[in-house]
Amino acid sequence: MAYDNSPAIEVILLFGLPGSGKGTWGKILGMMPGFYHLSTGDMFRMLDTESELGERVIQIMSAGELVPDDIVFDLMRRNLRHAEDIGRFNRARDRLVLDGFPRTPRQAEALMEIATIKCVLLLDCDNRELLINRLRRRAVLENRADDASEAVLRRRFEIYDREISTALAKVASSLIERIDVSRQPVRILCTLSQALDKRLG
Ligand code: AMP
Repeated sequence: MAYDNSPAIEVILLFGLPGSGKGTWGKILGMMPGFYHLSTGDMFRMLDTESELGERVIQIMSAGELVPDDIVFDLMRRNLRHAEDIGRFNRARDRLVLDGFPRTPRQAEALMEIATIKCVLLLDCDNRELLINRLRRRAVLENRADDASEAVLRRRFEIYDREISTALAKVASSLIERIDVSRQPVRILCTLSQALDKRLG
């Protein structure tokens, strides 16, 4: 994803099954000074659905499949450049919180070229039925095409199981912090804060 030749960006990775709260916790972290949150899923959901690219991406997402790497790289590059142009993100000052990236070995390799990974927050939940129930609620509340059918959700879980192992295999296992997201939100917040305090100092 060659972005440019500036120093490595410090990155926090957020991994988790659909419904594990990646987006929520990513947004909360992104509100803190010194952090910039980039969700690839949100980036795709914000595309103009009338455009050729938007239509193509929505179709892929609605089937629960992964968007091709080149599209992901191109949109991420544009998002980061824009965030830098408007002063929202400064790589020398801010940590980049990546939510939903990397999801393929090629994405993981591209990330390693431009970033130093400080920490991997793995939002973990043994109870998949709990997640499915959360996602059913979200499909209604947020009108999300990618949450719409149970078959698509199960397909997304299947892809996640595959993607997590390939992406995490590229990251040092010592960087991984497992966070149990079946607990109360306040407890999750405490664990996340402790993990970041330990990793970022
Ligand atoms: P998320 O909001 O992270 O669950 O992502 C929603 C959907 O966006 C996924 O099911 C994929 O279709 C697509 N997507 C998000 N991030 C990526 C990525 N890094 N690579 C390919 N597809 C992605």
